[in-house]
Amino acid sequence: MMTKYIPILIFCLSFQLFSQSQNELKATIIGSGSPKYNTERAGPSVLMSYKNTNILVDMGNGTQGNLDKLQVKSKDLDALLFTHHHLDHNEEFTPIFIKTLLAAGQFKVVGPRPTTDLVNSVLSNYEEDIAYRLSKKQRTFSDVANNFTVNELEGNQSFTIGDIEISCTPVNHTIATMAYRFDAGGKSIVISGDLSYSESLPALAKQAEYLIIDSGGAIEEGKANNRTGKSKNRGNKEHAHVNLDESSRMANEAQVKNLVLTHLNFNNVDEVATSKALKENYSGSIFYAEDLMTFPKAENNTNTPTQITKKAKNSQAPNFEKMLKRLDTNKDGKIAITESKGKLKENFDKRDANKDGFITENEFGRGK
Ligand SMILES: [Zn+2]
Repeated sequence: MMTKYIPILIFCLSFQLFSQSQNELKATIIGSGSPKYNTERAGPSVLMSYKNTNILVDMGNGTQGNLDKLQVKSKDLDALLFTHHHLDHNEEFTPIFIKTLLAAGQFKVVGPRPTTDLVNSVLSNYEEDIAYRLSKKQRTFSDVANNFTVNELEGNQSFTIGDIEISCTPVNHTIATMAYRFDAGGKSIVISGDLSYSESLPALAKQAEYLIIDSGGAIEEGKANNRTGKSKNRGNKEHAHVNLDESSRMANEAQVKNLVLTHLNFNNVDEVATSKALKENYSGSIFYAEDLMTFPKAENNTNTPTQITKKAKNSQAPNFEKMLKRLDTNKDGKIAITESKGKLKENFDKRDANKDGFITENEFGRGK
């Protein structure tokens, strides 16, 4: 008799758990990568959620795949925000926009210019396709035309989407770019977008819990001695991204509690060297984004980033384990030449001391 209520009970309980988990403003890194294609890092994207509100900020390559892993559906999205319109940040806008439109909920599209042109070009280029898909459920475009609004941002502004307060400020990059601050339930999270040093950012990010920032200048493993945080972006090259000196100065000025570096060009960040450079100006906590990481960090979260102390302790053979995870496709605990990539492949012979065609942990440590 009671058994028939068990599924209902389970449903109610799990719903309650889900709602509880949304009761704190949360940022989920959907993509932590850069324009460079990377199977382990989707292009830039962050999902902001609080209560029943979900806002997607940027939609780089791989965004849909990672949203699917989290079972976030198009109909769950209340807004699609852009920091700017570099391709790596809006690559998957077209499919996400059309799917959200077909899902028939209300949503907003918000970003700096040319957000309106982009939306209009998608609507015109895919007019027939959208009409065809709508017709499957006996709908026409006029049934959904009022389901979305487009808001092109200029200058400092504040607005509300669902349960989240948002403010934005322009920051310096090569094209019109916005940084966003999200406030809800007494917590605040800021997303910088791509930027070079911008006085507007610390003002926007003042005392935020988390500042998710352009990782410009982050140091790749094995390259720590090639340059310091300050040396990057000097010279005549266009200054599109911060260096570590600039990002840490802005974090310090804003007095943010946690700094999250994202938009990473490579997998193997030298966290020790990078954090050391950042700590010259900034004394809060530092995290390195990976896809599907969430902030604030939960206790015992499996995604908890490696603590700097732990990394330093292992610095003799710092990253063989990581390297294995990434490259050892047949899981035999060593790296074959066919499995190696990049710098490791170039220096394979040097590291493979016994010339058996494999790099073991011992050989990896010695080859440094
Ligand atoms: Zn950019």
